[in-house]
Amino acid sequence: MVVQDIFVVILGLVFGSFLYTMTLRLQHQTPVSRRSSCDHCAAVIGIIGLIPLVGFVVSKGKCRNCGGSISWAYPLTEVLNAGLVYTIFLRTGWQLEFIHAFLIFESLLLIAFLDFRTHCIYPQPVIFAFLVQCVWLAGVRSTDLLDSLFGLFMGAGVFHWIGYLYQNLRRRVGLGEGDATLLGLIGFAFGWNVLFATIFWAAVFGILFGGTLLLVRRQSWKAEIAFGPWLVLAAYLIWYFPDFFQNVPFKTGTQLILR
Ligand SMILES: [Zn+2]
Repeated sequence: MVVQDIFVVILGLVFGSFLYTMTLRLQHQTPVSRRSSCDHCAAVIGIIGLIPLVGFVVSKGKCRNCGGSISWAYPLTEVLNAGLVYTIFLRTGWQLEFIHAFLIFESLLLIAFLDFRTHCIYPQPVIFAFLVQCVWLAGVRSTDLLDSLFGLFMGAGVFHWIGYLYQNLRRRVGLGEGDATLLGLIGFAFGWNVLFATIFWAAVFGILFGGTLLLVRRQSWKAEIAFGPWLVLAAYLIWYFPDFFQNVPFKTGTQLILR
């Protein structure tokens, strides 16, 4: 039991490091397969430096070659992701579902990071998660196929419709096309019955975050807030605590597919 727990936490740390590297590489369009190097002097990072957390602690957060500081975002992402992966493991146990939920949520986290930094939904993690779900539906849970397909079309469709209304009411584009793609993916992975609760909680979190920004930085509401990270957070919370996050706003009484 303890061995599995340790394995899952290490898996989370390693993938956290990987996700942050992927975020930077997709954002800056550098080759994904390149070896990791220092952001300041481009010196290739040694084997120990590549070990999540250990690398940061051993180097005291500085490049060995030029002494430039290594971003705190690396260890932070690694720890955050280890927490995410471990909670997935607590929910699914040592089952095939763990691999499925793990791959879906890692893709969603990458989508959220990229959206947070660039306000764009990148296609690569969307396509990857889509393929994972296809394999899952074809090989393991074919009974969920209709729920998933309905979720895919409804998720993508509802957001197009809201975006269209908003555009006509306010005469400007509010919700990106990317949000429709992301919601389609969430509907495909979790089933159609989570969609309304996902939009509801994402809006609550987005408004809370936007309101805080407004107070702290005195930014105007026109400063666009990426909605993707809040959709991902909402989907995760609904998946983890369905009794509260799904059934409180909407008494659907139905359970989630991804479990
Ligand atoms: Zn350096």
